[in-house]
Amino acid sequence: MKVIVVGSSHGGYEAVRGMLLENPDAEIQWYERGNFISFLSCGMELYLEGTVKDVNTVAYETVDNAEKDGVHVFVQQEIASIDEKNKSVHVKNLADGSERDESYDKLILAIGATPRRLDVPGKDLENLYAMRGRDWAIKLKQKMVDPDLKHVFVIGSGYIGIEAAEAFAKAGKEVTIVDHNPRLLGNYLDSEFTEKLTQEFKENGVNFVGSVNVSEFVGKDGKVSSVKTDQGTFDAELVVETAGVIPNTSLVDGLLDLDERGRIKIDEHQETSVKDIYAVGDATKVPYAPTGELSSIALASNARRQGRTAAANAAGRELKMTAVSGSSALSVFNYHFASTGVKQDTQEKCGVKGAESVLIEDWAVPPFVSEEAGNAKVYFKITFDPTDGRILGGQIMSTRDVTANINTISFAIQQHATVYDLAYADFFFQPGFDRPWNIMNEAAQAAVRKIN
Ligand code: FAD
Repeated sequence: MKVIVVGSSHGGYEAVRGMLLENPDAEIQWYERGNFISFLSCGMELYLEGTVKDVNTVAYETVDNAEKDGVHVFVQQEIASIDEKNKSVHVKNLADGSERDESYDKLILAIGATPRRLDVPGKDLENLYAMRGRDWAIKLKQKMVDPDLKHVFVIGSGYIGIEAAEAFAKAGKEVTIVDHNPRLLGNYLDSEFTEKLTQEFKENGVNFVGSVNVSEFVGKDGKVSSVKTDQGTFDAELVVETAGVIPNTSLVDGLLDLDERGRIKIDEHQETSVKDIYAVGDATKVPYAPTGELSSIALASNARRQGRTAAANAAGRELKMTAVSGSSALSVFNYHFASTGVKQDTQEKCGVKGAESVLIEDWAVPPFVSEEAGNAKVYFKITFDPTDGRILGGQIMSTRDVTANINTISFAIQQHATVYDLAYADFFFQPGFDRPWNIMNEAAQAAVRKIN
């Protein structure tokens, strides 16, 4: 069997690894149009902040390693078109200009997404950057040490914008971060959490402005110098645009069924509308565990699960894509937070009505352990359906890293567990690590009282 995998990021990497596990005898061809395979944008902040020194190590895989495992890797080679009737792809070698066709038995598309750029006057000025992939990582890193750069303007306060803002602030730059939303991280956390994080940003020199519409990039000598918005003009010698992504699906437009935003429609086995063509990652949607509906959640964790699912099905073993809840974690200066599933403030965006929540504030470990010894306040919020107690979401934040609790909530959502199940669930107790009632027990018990 000949399998062609297109795209070498999270989805493509996992599809290749999955195929090696499922069918070691398969002939695997792996294509990437960029000049580097499997760069992890997830690791970009670690590189920008200097935790990781070499940008080339921020990857899952090297060409040599994949080839040692029998995978044929083609870098700087783009799949330019697909002939689904003859089951072949047209390949353009971007390095030497040559072209050829390659046949396939199974085709797995992990073609991902590209950052959305603002279509406003001044959009062609220099120093308007995005933040995705190795090339942008290198360019951003150069800017961090540029002594002429004083003001950085970040558009979009999702995870990526937050990472950009924090990295540039730590590099000593004056940073403003703006969003359409009134709250920063508005899609990830409720206001009890975002108020604290906005304050944390402020204390570390990052100015957040919400409910902003950018109207123009103003330039001087061809380079951006300020940004006009409906809330004033901001100095900016560098703009980082992190206002969402657009699926890279022009390759399959007219061939595969796409949704209204151009994402590839897939079934529960990751198969597209054309037999033997599978799609995974940010170019697709995922099954959202709280509602059972498909949802667009651009995460590497999802792309990896989809890649494994596509590989299993392409190899002939039936495997359904697991339902996911958009679980994610991040740090903002001294705080660590994580969230999963439905939030109280934005439940309607997730297709949910009438959800209720309980917020608990408590110490991470028994209060006899001092803050100097590592104790810290933990804020945990559980969101549930009051009609049957079903757990729909969770959010956690502390200056101590307690983010892993959210994986339990994600699993509870996926398993359709209720606050009744969680209220007395068995979690370990050791005063150096936790309390006799974990904060999730406490919150679920409060939720049960609220329902009754
Ligand atoms: P993409 O990463 O979009 O990659 C697609 C690849 O396909 C590209 O390399 C592209 O060159 C190639 N390609 C496209 N078309 C063709 C073609 N026709 N021929 C050949 N090659 C082609 N997610 C998390 O879960 N945790 C995190 O901590 C996290 N942090 C992030 C931080 C940043 C700064 C960013 C930008 C994203 C982060 N994400 C994180 C999200 C995660 O990176 C994406 O969800 C993930 O990259 C999606 O993977 P993908 O395989 O769909 O495709």
